[in-house]
Amino acid sequence: MESLGVKEKLPQPQIEVRQEKSLEFVAKAIKDYEDVGDDEAVFMLALTLDHPEWKDSILEQIKQHKPHVRNVDKILERLKENYFSLSWQSQIQSNAEDTVWWNEHLLEVKTRIINLISYFRPSSNEVAKKVIIIPSDKLLESKDAGGSFHVGDTAIIMSHTKNLGNFEHEFLHGIINPITEEFAGGISEEKIIALASNKLKKEQGYGDHALSLLNEELIRTYNEFIENKKSIAVIIDNDLREIVYQLYQRFNTERSIHSEIKFKDFLAREIGNLFD
Ligand SMILES: [Zn+2]
Repeated sequence: MESLGVKEKLPQPQIEVRQEKSLEFVAKAIKDYEDVGDDEAVFMLALTLDHPEWKDSILEQIKQHKPHVRNVDKILERLKENYFSLSWQSQIQSNAEDTVWWNEHLLEVKTRIINLISYFRPSSNEVAKKVIIIPSDKLLESKDAGGSFHVGDTAIIMSHTKNLGNFEHEFLHGIINPITEEFAGGISEEKIIALASNKLKKEQGYGDHALSLLNEELIRTYNEFIENKKSIAVIIDNDLREIVYQLYQRFNTERSIHSEIKFKDFLAREIGNLFD
């Protein structure tokens, strides 16, 4: 039993930098898998080539969150054939240089993770126990692109070097997404879609996925306005951001009184009236 007055210990995920050859392969081959219609799903499936122990979890996640991806077995078969063929093996470019960069910046990565955890205060079962960073400069189309997914209690993060802001963004998905998913029943999807910025919906392709729009806004607003203290004056045409910004302001006020308050508990109280 937890006794009052004893400070809850903040979770401290283990961090590892790891080149994944199957992802280096699929980054080169991604054009051949355009028909799948979901690059992230292709990356996830490719990971199972060298990690059969992750296969069940990845297949389950695709079934649950990416129902538009069809014929998963056939895609896997194709990936396997291509990956293990000699012509492809010779084309795979290693990300050795990026690996050096990540290893040199591990301390800074660690500090940023600790800061994020101390702000949102997830319990240890609500955040990854292990974070695997995949050196991804050659895997991602731009410095601002990134990706992350979870297998069991491990977070796998693809992010460009020299853009730790994006790394934080990807890490935060692992904290924020499960929270909004848990509260999804009490959120009006129509309202979120109506409030979200056109930039996010149209230009950046989040469409009308209410939870994704909310997750993006929670993460970006934290990143830009709370952590990096950009001025609120620059919020234009984005009612959802305005609401999220005010939410963080109220959270900050509460934090200044109860330093150990969890963002999840705070949001649970707020969510019912947040979009009215
Ligand atoms: Zn995102």
